[in-house]
Amino acid sequence: MPSPIVVQVVVDKPLAQGFDYLWDSNQLGNDPEVGQLVEVPFGRASLVGIVIKVSDHSDYELDKLKSITRVAPLPPFDAASLRLVNFASQYYIHALGETIIPTIPQMWKKPDNWEKALEKISAAEEKKRKKIQQEPSEGLIDEAHLNQGQALALEKLRQCSVEKEFKTILLQGQTGSGKTAVFLNWLKGILEDSSSQVLLLVPEINLTPQLERRVRAYFPDKKMVVLHSGVSEKNRGIAWYEAMTGKAQIILGTRLAALTPLPNLRAIVVDEEHDPSYKQQDGIRYSARDLAIWRAHDLKIPVLLASATPSLESWIAAKAGRYEYIRLDQRAQGAALPQVRLINTRDPQSQFSPGDIGRPISASLITKTLANAISKNLENKKQSLILINRRGYAPILSCNACTWLSKCQQCSSYMVMHKAGALGRRPVLSCHHCGLVKPIPEHCPDCGNADLKTLGKGTQKIEDAIEEMWPSARVLRVDTDASRKSKGAEELFQEIHAGNVDIVVGTQMIAKGHDYQNIGLVAVLDADSRLFSPDFRAAERLFAQLVQVAGRAGRSSKDDQGAGEIYIETQYPEAAVFQYLLRHDVDGFLGYLAHERDEAKLPPFSYQGLVHAEAKSLDKAIQFLAALKGRLKSRGLMTPGLKVYDPVPRAVMRVAGTERAQLVLEADDRRQLQDVLEAVDQDLRNGSQGRISKGDRIRWLIERDPTSI
Ligand code: ADP
Ligand code: ZN
Ligand code: ZN
Repeated sequence: MPSPIVVQVVVDKPLAQGFDYLWDSNQLGNDPEVGQLVEVPFGRASLVGIVIKVSDHSDYELDKLKSITRVAPLPPFDAASLRLVNFASQYYIHALGETIIPTIPQMWKKPDNWEKALEKISAAEEKKRKKIQQEPSEGLIDEAHLNQGQALALEKLRQCSVEKEFKTILLQGQTGSGKTAVFLNWLKGILEDSSSQVLLLVPEINLTPQLERRVRAYFPDKKMVVLHSGVSEKNRGIAWYEAMTGKAQIILGTRLAALTPLPNLRAIVVDEEHDPSYKQQDGIRYSARDLAIWRAHDLKIPVLLASATPSLESWIAAKAGRYEYIRLDQRAQGAALPQVRLINTRDPQSQFSPGDIGRPISASLITKTLANAISKNLENKKQSLILINRRGYAPILSCNACTWLSKCQQCSSYMVMHKAGALGRRPVLSCHHCGLVKPIPEHCPDCGNADLKTLGKGTQKIEDAIEEMWPSARVLRVDTDASRKSKGAEELFQEIHAGNVDIVVGTQMIAKGHDYQNIGLVAVLDADSRLFSPDFRAAERLFAQLVQVAGRAGRSSKDDQGAGEIYIETQYPEAAVFQYLLRHDVDGFLGYLAHERDEAKLPPFSYQGLVHAEAKSLDKAIQFLAALKGRLKSRGLMTPGLKVYDPVPRAVMRVAGTERAQLVLEADDRRQLQDVLEAVDQDLRNGSQGRISKGDRIRWLIERDPTSI
């Protein structure tokens, strides 16, 4: 009798191990290979899984094993891509099946549709072949047209990215210095080998349409696919197929593309490498940038990190020589840097006084200094961008007669007021944490008083004030409400590009990546709200955002009215983040931060892990974590160099009726943190506490290298 074929398969379940199945080569049509996508019976259901091992025996009785039902018509995941998911699973303490299966698009998770999926793909390929592709040459700066600084950077990049060698390269240069033009020319060289694949990661969806056109312009004869959450399921299924079969050469995507199997990967670019959106915030909480670096190391290929404001981690590594460091410090189109102006809102001179002409109804909304600057900018026929990082009309509704505030009944946060027409025909209160929407109460629910007033300001309130102050200006609001409701974000951006707008009011969303040509003024209204935060990364983030925002002003040298201006309203103009910004001193600020973190032994001078706990009551969640800490102590796991803090409530403690707490662990080195987190995982898995919340149960999760504490 021939020996049986046993395969081990992982599925999308929180299980530490795979399951054994029998493989019948006659029935399935081929022999098994590690990395194959298969359908398996699981309990009473059927699931997709990945074969992780092939052998001729099992620790279980063979006649108890079930058989593989079906094999996907796909090549197996290549060995390197499997190493990547294995690493991610171990490093982030997350079950292998739960790591790998979620990276597969829906189209390939429905075995009944596997054959149809292939048909769809060949139909799509046929259609593409028929459509003669007239590519626009938007933004194409070929090698011959690079400026001196760019040419030098490209030269250095080529020198340090020799074949079959791992290198991490930090390309630092202010917004508009031509980094994108440099790395696209670099990739062009790598793609001369027609079997090569390159992965280009970008932070946000709203960045991709513009960049997508630009990348296509550089590579008109290469196959490129785009992977982000805004791509339809069908197109994502096709793109993933073309990536994992090696047919696509350029893979442009957001963090969710980081784990895509790419059998011929030769180089990786992580654009805006400092961007917080590279961190996945649910499921397996990985950093796409960190995984890209590991992947490059494993494959012995170069990985390029590009940014105007590098993360402190990358900047320190480059300074210390662990990364290659390439600088690009001149603006490509010659425009000067914008003037930074700090408006001290405590200075009475900056404010409107009661008799002033043009004073808005609610005079505290915008300072007089800023209003005058906007008027001047309008006269100069330049566009103004007003940034406020809060959508809605006002963050809180309150009662004038008693202490009632618009608290969310399900969360420990306030419900935001949205004016009529924004989220429906009537004004509403909406919770931005749990999504609850309620009509505005006509009277105070506590005392019956009809005089309710708003506290604070959001994009809609500022939009109203601007319209009131400059009735003839064309005003456009850009935030996720506006882009959901009428037009997509891309259409709103087009309005700005086309010059159909004089004043744009919006959230951070408008500041990213877009290359506007006629912005004369940028104003930031709520910088202070992000200045004081329990999160030690708040200042680093605020600085990066402000630099990015500043980069929107005066981007072009189309005219000679000089650089634009950026106005920041603050009560604390002396704060370090503003002072370094005033001098456009990115390195100075990062040096300052490095010193601060070193003193406090915070990352990157230590390594952190988090254990999250969620329960119906905060006490339960805290007790659960305190008990864990107690066990770590009694089991002798609290070794020198490891610090375990006391459990505390999360910043937004309650969301949708669930109370949330966290335990921070901090270690001097990575290995030590790995060991203790593995011990925590074992401990919590063995415990009687379930993982899925049901009734009284507690839901827990381990997070490695958290980016918000
Ligand atoms: P970054 O990525 O550093 O923000 P980009 O590569 O996007 O910079 O360049 C900024 C702008 O300058 C773009 O509009 C780009 O097309 C243009 N640009 C880049 N390099 C050159 C160059 N050598 N000559 C003229 N324009 C350039
Ligand atoms: Zn009241
Ligand atoms: Zn809520």
